[in-house]
Order: sequence, then structure tokens, then C-alpha cells
Amino acid sequence: MFDSGKTTPVEDTDENRAICRKYCTICPNYKYHQLGKCQPAELFCALGKSSRPNMKQINCFCTGCEIYLKHHLRMGYFCVRK
Ligand code: SF4
Ligand code: SF4
Repeated sequence: MFDSGKTTPVEDTDENRAICRKYCTICPNYKYHQLGKCQPAELFCALGKSSRPNMKQINCFCTGCEIYLKHHLRMGYFCVRK
């Protein structure tokens, strides 16, 4: 059956930031582009893309994240594209 779950907004909370850090901070994109040095530095699905310019899309770990599943997010790479 087609998954008709609609995307819902992700809130900027300490709990969500902690969950995000389990995935984003270890992903190849984050490490390669040193995203911890730019703002926002985490929870890109809520806060928007990183201010780091000209990023490649190397590999995204969002699809394994419980926030991604809970909010029916799509495609990942929120540090780059959203
Ligand atoms: S979906 Fe991606 S950006 Fe959003 S909290 Fe999870 S790992 Fe972070
Ligand atoms: S949004 Fe995806 S690609 Fe960007 S840092 Fe998080 S896991 Fe990595």
C-alpha cells in the first residue's frame, strides 16, 4: 500500500537536537564539509540548510533517524537543500 503519511513539522527542541546528533554528526557529508563549524550545525530538517556554500551530496544518514520516520520526511540532505 502506498505510504500516504504527510510530512509534519519538526520542532526545535533539545531532545530533537540530541537525536539528530546521533546521525548528522557522523555522516560523510557532515564530516567532509565540517558542518559543525557553520550555522545551523544540526537539526537541519527543522532549522534549514547549513550556511556552508557549494556542498556536494556525499551520503546522508537521515533515513535511519527516528525523527525522519516519525515526521514522514522525504529525501534527506536537509543540510544542503532545505
Ligand atoms: S532527519 Fe536528518 S536532519 Fe532531521 S533530525 Fe534526523 S538526522 Fe537530523
Ligand atoms: S542532513 Fe543528511 S547529509 Fe546533512 S548532515 Fe544530516 S545526515 Fe548528513
